[in-house]
Amino acid sequence: SYQGKILVYILVKILVYITFIVRVIYNFSLFFIIRNLVFPKTKNALYCFNNNCFWKKNSNNLVEVPYIVSSEYSSTDISVIKNAMSTFHNKTCIRFVPRLNQTDYISIENKDGCYSYLGRIGGKQVVSFNRQGCVYHGIIQHELNHALGFYHEHTRSDRDKYVKINWEYVPTDKAYNFQIQNTNNQNTTYDYGSVMHYGKTAFTTQAGKNTITPIPDATVAIGQRQDMSNLDILRINKLYGCVV
Ligand SMILES: [Zn+2]
Repeated sequence: SYQGKILVYILVKILVYITFIVRVIYNFSLFFIIRNLVFPKTKNALYCFNNNCFWKKNSNNLVEVPYIVSSEYSSTDISVIKNAMSTFHNKTCIRFVPRLNQTDYISIENKDGCYSYLGRIGGKQVVSFNRQGCVYHGIIQHELNHALGFYHEHTRSDRDKYVKINWEYVPTDKAYNFQIQNTNNQNTTYDYGSVMHYGKTAFTTQAGKNTITPIPDATVAIGQRQDMSNLDILRINKLYGCVV
């Protein structure tokens, strides 16, 4: 009927509008929520429309992430960065490649802190490794994992079963770093040993007081920045469908 058609037309319009609004809010929150500073203390995976926020696989089943590096780094810095990248190359199908003319790429810069966007945002995206506090193997891996689309381990959807957040010691302006995210955990178990997990006193307002306490066993170690864990590597391989 004519009225039926009008109704369908209106519903479709409303749906398109809602989709648009959701995307705007989503992109907006990406910008603010994800720009996380781990300096000086130092995802699970993102759900993603059309896999649009992940890096693309090439015909060789490798996922190329083009990069450029600021000239402010020393040759020692560069070798630390490249060595951190080599873990991805050796254990996953991710390949950080010097940029030629690719549209989407990461720009490694000596900015104020250690941070990255979450996933591929399109075009140039800055990953910051401050020379004074971020050019370390595990920290570089941590930020590169964000760029691949991984949240902090302690914000994954099921984290309340594994850690307790002590909100009384979390500064208000840092609370977003501790908020639960709607993550795709890919059937991997919670990983206290993840390079994406914060340490116990991260951002604490009171020296010696935990912002994050592992449960039920508070003595479990968290927050290592030595190297990616086996589960960190497994999650990359799952998310990107690597054949390794
Ligand atoms: Zn982080």
